[in-house]
Amino acid sequence: MYIKEVELKNFKSFGKSVRVPLKNDFLTVTGPNGSGKSNIVDALLFALCLSSSRAMRAERLPDLIYRGEGAKNPDFAQVTVRLDNAGRSFPLDSDTIEVSRSIKVKGDKYSSSYYFNGKSCSQGELHELLAKAGITPESYNIVMQGDVTRIIEMSALERRKIIDEIAGVAEFDEKKKKAMEELDVVAERIGRVDVIIEEVADQLSHLKAERDRSLSYQAHREELSRQQAFLLLAKLKEASTELEALHEEMAALEEKGKSLQQKAEEKRQHFSEQDARLASISSEITHKGEDEEIEVKHRIEEIK
Ligand code: ATP
Ligand code: MG
Repeated sequence: MYIKEVELKNFKSFGKSVRVPLKNDFLTVTGPNGSGKSNIVDALLFALCLSSSRAMRAERLPDLIYRGEGAKNPDFAQVTVRLDNAGRSFPLDSDTIEVSRSIKVKGDKYSSSYYFNGKSCSQGELHELLAKAGITPESYNIVMQGDVTRIIEMSALERRKIIDEIAGVAEFDEKKKKAMEELDVVAERIGRVDVIIEEVADQLSHLKAERDRSLSYQAHREELSRQQAFLLLAKLKEASTELEALHEEMAALEEKGKSLQQKAEEKRQHFSEQDARLASISSEITHKGEDEEIEVKHRIEEIK
């Protein structure tokens, strides 16, 4: 990955819009003192959000706006950096990445706007996006004049730290440290979860016993109602057989009653006939008796 182009608009000593093309094997910018060489570096620091305004040799950010001769737009400055992404240092399907930052002044106040590939974003988001390609304020993407002297003068241990940082080892060390800390937290959580699992297992076996008891109760209840139904059915059968027998008995008794009534009727008929005969015999006897008595008395007299 390399910087393809820097475009400065109204930034520091560049009053007009200036494009600075930078080739892959680009080495240096030369020019007289005060011609704006370092301002190009400041433009990079500004657009990529790599340093404070002081490091860009300005009291405040508005001081970065061109205020030289014939300044037309004293409230606005913009820097756009185009980066080559053919090697996909940025995990994006795009050969060029465009990072842009502008500053606007309104009265006493001023604000910055950030763009990544033409899309507006916050400074935090831009930092995150650039960090994916290793562009961070902490890394030595831009080595300032003072940095070189500082690196030469520092102790071997401090230098080692910087080399680690540049090589990316420090980042891995940091990540490793974080991962180890996270591992501790996770191990502690696992311990807590184990205790919970044990408790839950206890509850589970208790609940299982209760469930078994409840299921057996339910099965017994069902069996009971089945047996009760059988019992009722048997009783019903018994009662209907009994009812049938009673019906039969009643029919037989009715039949018997009928024949007895008929017999009684016959007897009554017989009696009334006998009564009539008796009456006729009695009257016959009475008549005959008188005649016979006279005859008998007559005969007795004869015999005498
Ligand atoms: P040297 O060779 O001494 O390092 P240089 O080429 O790096 O010089 P710079 O420091 O980039 O030069 O540029 C300094 C010039 O930029 C100064 O002349 C300064 O007046 C000018 N300058 C800085 N800020 C602004 C601004 N806001 N508006 C206009 N000009 C500015
Ligand atoms: Mg300089």
